[in-house]
This record gives sequence, C-alpha cells and structure tokens, in this order.
Amino acid sequence: MKPAEGAGRVYLVGAGPGDPGLLTARALELIATADTILYDRLIPSQALAGALPDAELLFVGKQGGGESVPQEQTEALMIERARAGRTVVRLKGGDPFVFGRGGEEALALREAEIDFEVVPGVTAGVAAAAYAGIPVTHRGLATGVAFVTGHTREDTPSDSSEPREGNVRSGGHDGSERDAVEAHEPELDWKALAAFPGTLVFYMGVRALARIADSLIAAGRPPSQPVALVERGTLPDQRTVSGTLATIAEVAAREHVKAPAITVVGDVVNLGQSLAWREDRPLAGLTVAVTRARAQASGLATRLENLGANVVQAPTIRVRELSDPAGAPLDLSPYDLVCLTSPNGVQFLFKRLAASGRDARALAGARIAAIGAGTVAALAEHGIVADIVPERALAESLVEALSGLEIRHALVATAGGARETLPAALRERGVSVDVLALYETVAEPLSESALATATGADYITFASGSSVRFFLGALCVRARTRAGHPFADTPTAADTPTAQAERPDDGSGELSPKTRIVSIGPVTSAALRENGLEPHVEAEQHDLEGLVGALVDDAEHRTG
Ligand code: SAH
Repeated sequence: MKPAEGAGRVYLVGAGPGDPGLLTARALELIATADTILYDRLIPSQALAGALPDAELLFVGKQGGGESVPQEQTEALMIERARAGRTVVRLKGGDPFVFGRGGEEALALREAEIDFEVVPGVTAGVAAAAYAGIPVTHRGLATGVAFVTGHTREDTPSDSSEPREGNVRSGGHDGSERDAVEAHEPELDWKALAAFPGTLVFYMGVRALARIADSLIAAGRPPSQPVALVERGTLPDQRTVSGTLATIAEVAAREHVKAPAITVVGDVVNLGQSLAWREDRPLAGLTVAVTRARAQASGLATRLENLGANVVQAPTIRVRELSDPAGAPLDLSPYDLVCLTSPNGVQFLFKRLAASGRDARALAGARIAAIGAGTVAALAEHGIVADIVPERALAESLVEALSGLEIRHALVATAGGARETLPAALRERGVSVDVLALYETVAEPLSESALATATGADYITFASGSSVRFFLGALCVRARTRAGHPFADTPTAADTPTAQAERPDDGSGELSPKTRIVSIGPVTSAALRENGLEPHVEAEQHDLEGLVGALVDDAEHRTG
C-alpha cells in the first residue's frame, strides 16, 4: 500500500527506561522536529524538553488514578494528525515493540495507509537489569533470556482496586502497570517458562509476584533460584531487592516494592552482587539541590550526577553582562597587574576585548592573578597561564600572595557589587586600582515545583553569597505568598521589624530539617549566617571540587 499523498509520517519512538541519557540520538532528533508528540507516562521526565516551542504535546496515558485515553482514540489521533500533514512522534517508555502496544499502533497506521517508522528504545528488562549489575545472559549461566508479561488474565478482577497514588513520585515517572497492556492477556505457560534454559524477565509483575513465583516453583523451577526486583531502574532512586523464588514475594512486601519494576529470575541475578555499580556510588539515592546560575550549574551538576546523586537545579540567579556605559574600547596597556576573580570575569573580559578588536595579546604587559581553580582553567582556555594563584580561593589570600610584588597600576575585573577587600587592600599599599565591573548577578524566578524539590533535598549547595541571597529571596517570597502577605512580590518592602519578630519571614524556615546545607567557603557561609542559616558543611578547598569533596565526605557519615 502506498502512503497517502501529502500526509505526514508517524514515528513510533522508544524513549528508554527513564534515564534521559538512554534516549537514543534518533529519538532526540525526532522529538526536536515533531509537530505533534503523543506520549504516555513511562517516559523520562526530561524527554520533551527538546520539543519545538510550538509543538503540540498530547498526553495519552493514565491521568492520576483515572482511566487512560482509550487505545483506539490514541490511534485515531495519530492518524488524524498525520493526515493533516503533521510529523507525529508517538513516544513510549522503553521500546515501542516490547509490551508497548507499538505493534498494534503500527497495524492501525498500515491499515490507514499512513507512512511510519519505528525507532527502537532501550527496553527496561535489559536496562534496569544492567543498571543493577545483572547481565541478562552470561556464558555458563544463561544461554537465553525471555521477556514475559507478569500481567495476566488472572489479575483482571483486582485491577481497578490497585492503589495507584503511592506509585506516583517525583520525576513524572510513575509505575502504572496497565498503561501499556490491556487486561485480556492469556494465562502464561508456566511449564514452558519453568523449563526455559535461561533468564526470565517479567514486566508488570509486581502485583502478581507471589503468583509468578509459586507458579514457577510448582512447574519445576528450583525454589532456591535467585530473583531480583529492580524498582525504578535507571532513575536516580533506583532500588534493587533480591531473594529467591521461595522468598521474593515476602521480601518485596516487606520492602514495599512498587511499580515500575522488573523481576529477573535466574542464576545471573547472583552476578549483581559483584557487578552492582550504580547503587554503590557515594551519592546514590541522595537528592542534591544546586543553586548556581543555570549557565554555570551544569559542571557541578554533572560531577554530582557522576557520583550517583539526583540533582535538582534551582538556579535563582542568572549572570548578566554589563557593558561599558561610554562604549569605550578596553585598553589594558596601563596595567601591570590584572586580577580575575571568577570564570565569568574571564569570559566577559575576553568578550570585551574581542568587541574592542583585541585578543589575548592585550594582556601581554601585565601579570595575571586568578582566584580559584575555575578561573585558572577559564584563563587556560584562552591560552593564558595565571602568574599568581593564591593557595585559598579568597580575596584575602590573594592580597597575601601579592604582598612581595611591586605593583603600580592594577585592574580588578570582577562582578558589579563584588566585595571591596582586594581593591581596598591594594590601595592601602599605594597601588592605583581600577575596578572593572563586567557582569552582575540578577534573580531568576524559580518554579514552585523546583523550589519544593530543592527545599526537601538531602543537600543544598551554595557556591556564592549571591546565590544564598537570591535563593532565600525566592523562599521568602513564597513564604509570604502562602501567608497571604500584602507585599508578597516585594520582599524588601515588607521587612518591618515586627513582621520579622513574629515569624521567620526571611525564608530560612522553609528548608526541610533533614536538608544539609553545603557552603563553598567562609564568604558564602557568612552570607548564610546573615540570613539565619548555619551551614552543616563548609568546603576546605573553596572551589567546586572542594565543595563536591566535602559533600561526599559528609554523605559517607550521614545516617538516615
Ligand atoms: N515498552 C516498555 C515496557 C512497558 S510495560 C519497555 O520496553 O521497557 C511497563 C513495565 O515496564 C512496567 O510495569 C515495568 O515492569 C517495566 N518498566 C518500565 N520502566 C521501568 C523502569 N524504569 N524500571 C523498572 N521497570 C520498568
């Protein structure tokens, strides 16, 4: 059959099991160009982030505890949009053809003579097992693997009574076991499954676990056979619980295992004991809020994620470039010392130089002082090796490091409103100092959900005094909004002594008591204390590496 002229194409796309890193390059490319995206619940929460701003996003999964959009309606929608000439992406968790009803949808498209393409995805049965350190096949242990639905005819009567609310957790990835499957499955051939010479991987099997285990034992699979349940596999809060066919139902009940989870039955499960890699990471299972500006946060976020943390970005600040009011070209020739205090300073200094038609050679006549490893690295990117790097990433430490040096005319390139310590100390020594304000930090409004996750995190990190002030500013606005304060939008206007005496109106009371506050160094800690917050952890080395190291040390000793 030839597809209808002028009609769009439908892409049946697998979105992987939850970790956004497991979306395929093809999936991302199609998401980024689709006119219409139909998606259901078991897709990574960030999967739609790259969609076109005016793309039509249609949720066709189960809403809350209610009913999902009927399959026929989903198919009709796809067909209708494609006929209208739109490029349609039908996005499904895992792989579209593994318990995803993708086959049915493809048949409907063929029937309607709509052109389609199938984009396989990483299926949960393989991925969740792999993230738990379980290879589904292994020489000498399993020569094959069977993917089996744990959702069978016998489950049907109790279907509607399954409590669902408890399954819904943060991240938009919930465990509804019926999103993908209609309740008309045939009963499984337990004898054949028990005799299968390899690993059995059950999807949608949490609720039926006891019956699955009993049926396999009754059909001849040894009761001592190891079983693992991987809950929310590949997601930051992935959890694995193990037992044997004889014990797993009891273990799962005791541990309150919930969907989505896969059940792996077979000797390969034992390999997980030595190959588990993800849940053993130092920050596994911990949520860490990062309050840096979005543009800067990714380096810190990546480091934390690599250590297993679930990172929430709460960028309450944004860096804004300041331009020279007179628009004069930047001339560095008068200076014999140029001090840079942050990677942003380096970036904007070079931008200014470029705008003046200059390059790194403009710095040739001056010695370069840099505070912090990030600043040193940013300079190195421009081919400049800093001459003076103080031991500690603090203005005071730089003043010390400069003490033996003959300086006549210094430039301090920094943020607008930065501390005066360095220029003041230099001036005191008789140095003529110019301060060049290259950028400023401004507030970035935060969504209520980002704030809520950040205030309930296990850790919250602060890498500058301004991030402290802006974050608490955001919390303060929220606290006042909730209290119906008349000046909800203008935190400073409401700062009357009486209001403060009555209740902590500075936002500091909004953090969860379990949240541990990590500060990059004494200046940030002082800003925290000024705002009524005592940091639990202060990095000894005042850069990102030091901050992450201090957090990891603390997490090692953390209980609960
Ligand atoms: N097409 C999907 C499967 C859909 S059926 C795929 O290929 O992965 C839904 C079932 O998939 C869930 O009940 C659960 O058994 C499994 N599943 C989906 N995401 C999962 C995850 N992140 N961790 C563990 N199991 C998952």
